[in-house]
Amino acid sequence: MKNISIIGGGIGGLTTALCFEKLGIEYTLYEKVNKLKTVGAGIWLSPNALQVLEWINPSLLHSIQRSGNSFNKILLTNHKLQPIRDSSQDFVKDMFGYTTLAIHRGVLQKILYSFINNKANIQLNKGFESYFQNSDHSYTINFHDQSTQITNVIIGADGINSKVRQQIFPKSKLRYSGQTCWRGVADFELDNNLVSAGFTLWGKKLQFGVSKLENGKTYWFAVMLSEPNLQENRETVKTKLIELFSQHHPIVTTLIQNTSANKIIRGDLSDLEWMNKWHTNTICLIGDAAHAMTPDLGQGGAQAMEDAFYLSNLIHQSNAFDVAFNNFYNLRKTKVKKLVEQSRLTSKMAITNKPLELLRNIILKYSPEKVLQKQMIETYTIDKTICGV
Ligand SMILES: Cc1cc2nc3c(=O)[nH]c(=O)nc-3n(C[C@H](O)[C@H](O)[C@H](O)COP(=O)(O)OP(=O)(O)OC[C@H]3O[C@@H](n4cnc5c(N)ncnc54)[C@H](O)[C@@H]3O)c2cc1C
Repeated sequence: MKNISIIGGGIGGLTTALCFEKLGIEYTLYEKVNKLKTVGAGIWLSPNALQVLEWINPSLLHSIQRSGNSFNKILLTNHKLQPIRDSSQDFVKDMFGYTTLAIHRGVLQKILYSFINNKANIQLNKGFESYFQNSDHSYTINFHDQSTQITNVIIGADGINSKVRQQIFPKSKLRYSGQTCWRGVADFELDNNLVSAGFTLWGKKLQFGVSKLENGKTYWFAVMLSEPNLQENRETVKTKLIELFSQHHPIVTTLIQNTSANKIIRGDLSDLEWMNKWHTNTICLIGDAAHAMTPDLGQGGAQAMEDAFYLSNLIHQSNAFDVAFNNFYNLRKTKVKKLVEQSRLTSKMAITNKPLELLRNIILKYSPEKVLQKQMIETYTIDKTICGV
């Protein structure tokens, strides 16, 4: 087997490493940070992601389930927390065995790392800078610490601002959604009726999402329209957010008040203009590097995990990497493209003007449950017939 380098140890990179270990595929993973820290806020992991984790190792899934909080419903409300749509997740549980769960992103990353058998395969403090192709078709990777590595295959799992993508597809373009997002984890326990729900408040041209992470910890995110690249002021961020959401249900203010200002993260929301190819020769992109989407459907991380699952199995079945990479794109493009488009559309629906808001709420309220269930089933299904093991 050829020498494979994974660039990036986030959700997609670590999951690929775990899939490779399961299938006996050798690899080395290079991650730019020097320590895997428990930073970040929360993330929702849907049943398609959980099925990948279960396939890798049922103990890995159990570990994640023990550290997270599963939902029995996904609730969409107006800004006063009055339901627009209440989707019970019972049918999801019946069908897949589990429902979406919320977990701290840093905890997720640590658990994924802890299940790597051969830790020597994970090299931290190795930021990919560039590569060049050698006459024997291998690549020399240049890292930020001036070191180099010769490899036959590169998997770019280096996220939305991927340097691997910038080198192989310099014309690829990020599209700013027009929205910026703050995320935090409050030291606060939700009321009993909300602890098992993932819920989002839409209204007043703002969006606020909430879910319990673990006892005493609640994850939230706040989204508004904004110019890009604005800097945050730590001194004033809480007062600003409380003022912004002053017309919302008081739970919003309570959560912001109970969050340390130092731990509120701000980031502009963008997605990647669709690409007609994710690979060139034996270099392939996965996850956000290939198809970053806005977070509105909570599917970016799940799709990075699905990529890891499908790509590793296709590599396992084929000795020709360019063939495996081509098959990978063909297998994934329909589902992923639809999710990128639906996420973008949902981001526009979430924050809109008053007349459209009323129309949106009516449509959402009266959409047949069967239609929504069908969409969820499509998103949550993975094709296990591809599995080599
Ligand atoms: C506000 C927000 C909320 C979200 N909520 C959800 C959710 O609830 N559910 C969900 O499924 N998805 C969610 N997402 C999307 C999800 O975070 C991403 O889709 C997911 O993290 C993509 O995984 P990835 O491995 O491709 O990239 P990342 O997880 O971003 O990992 C990239 C890794 O590469 C490393 N790296 C970067 N550059 C280099 C380099 N040059 N050399 C080496 N290493 C490098 C980084 O340090 C990082 O570890 C959300 C996104 C946002 C912005």
